[in-house]
Amino acid sequence: MKEPISGLSLFSHNMCKDGIEMARDVLIIGSGMAGLTAYNMLTKAGLSCLMLEKARGVGGRMSHRRHDLGGYDHGTSFFKVTSPIFKKFLQTYVDQGILDLDGGVAVAKPAGNNLARAMAPKEADFLAQKQVASITEDAGRLQLKDTDGVTYEGTKLLITCPMPQAKTLLHNHWDQSWPDAGQVSYRPVVTIMATMVARGDELGLAKLMGAGNSTNLWEADKPGRQEGHRLVVHFDEDATMPWLQTDLKELAGIMSRRLADAGNQVLDLQAHRWLYAHTKTAMDGGMLAHRDLPIWVAGDGFGLNGVESAFLSAHAAASDMIKKR
Ligand SMILES: Cc1cc2nc3c(=O)[nH]c(=O)nc-3n(C[C@H](O)[C@H](O)[C@H](O)COP(=O)(O)OP(=O)(O)OC[C@H]3O[C@@H](n4cnc5c(N)ncnc54)[C@H](O)[C@@H]3O)c2cc1C
Repeated sequence: MKEPISGLSLFSHNMCKDGIEMARDVLIIGSGMAGLTAYNMLTKAGLSCLMLEKARGVGGRMSHRRHDLGGYDHGTSFFKVTSPIFKKFLQTYVDQGILDLDGGVAVAKPAGNNLARAMAPKEADFLAQKQVASITEDAGRLQLKDTDGVTYEGTKLLITCPMPQAKTLLHNHWDQSWPDAGQVSYRPVVTIMATMVARGDELGLAKLMGAGNSTNLWEADKPGRQEGHRLVVHFDEDATMPWLQTDLKELAGIMSRRLADAGNQVLDLQAHRWLYAHTKTAMDGGMLAHRDLPIWVAGDGFGLNGVESAFLSAHAAASDMIKKR
């Protein structure tokens, strides 16, 4: 994972006298596939961008957890590539050996977040561990404030966090003409990452954990991965529900004991909670553009295909932003 940028040095370098981060053409909230796609398109079109990300590095749900025993893709690893425009965009990364693309399915190498790392903004355009807490608009200028109280100013804004969070952030600026937004919902998923002494039957291991109709992936089965018996189990929705409030360390302890009590030797076990997009139908246009303000919303929730939907949504939003520059 990319190391956080030292906020202090960057700030003292870029900060204007009135305490506002240097204004940019576009502020982007979120560094998942949607934010990264938009950043690449917008900067190519000559617009200056600043990306704010609440996590330590880029990738969002296309993420990888580093570990001495080899690491886990605890978000996406494989994703569909069905649209010609996405395929064309990815070809550069295939040529660079960062991505395997075979039969319409892609996987980044040697870890699931490597595509995101390759698409990452240049350092001066990226601030990690900056969670946007509010958005205000004044005389056509948009201002974001992070949880540390620092303000960032821009002419346009692209929000790529999940729709319910986007709605909370926009608050009074939520565009009432966005009825389709109701179609976009997110549901939680528990992910367990376990390193075993020996490779066992993944279905049996997932069953011991009570993972329901889970998705189970051995890391070493993917291209370019380190050897070892690292299993990632994504619980189904019903199996996730009992664990919504459980502390993740406690959850890891419970799952570890369940495996060990059945005679499995566990070297490491970690737990994480995520959100899956559940969208009833793909939305026309695949993004939202505010009726009155220079604000766009994009992300995977607008389509049915995860990473590809995030790409297509951001592609549509960035194209619109470039058109309306
Ligand atoms: C366990 C799991 C497995 C998956 N498997 C697959 C798969 O096999 N194939 C597939 O195609 N898709 C899969 N997906 C879905 C895929 O990961 C997502 O569709 C895609 O990565 C979403 O990209 P995005 O840019 O829309 O959102 P995200 O990747 O979620 O990016 C949004 C970013 O915004 C940041 N953010 C949120 N709020 C704020 C804030 N207030 N301030 C600053 N930053 C903020 C977040 O930290 C995040 O980095 C999976 C998802 C999960 C959780």
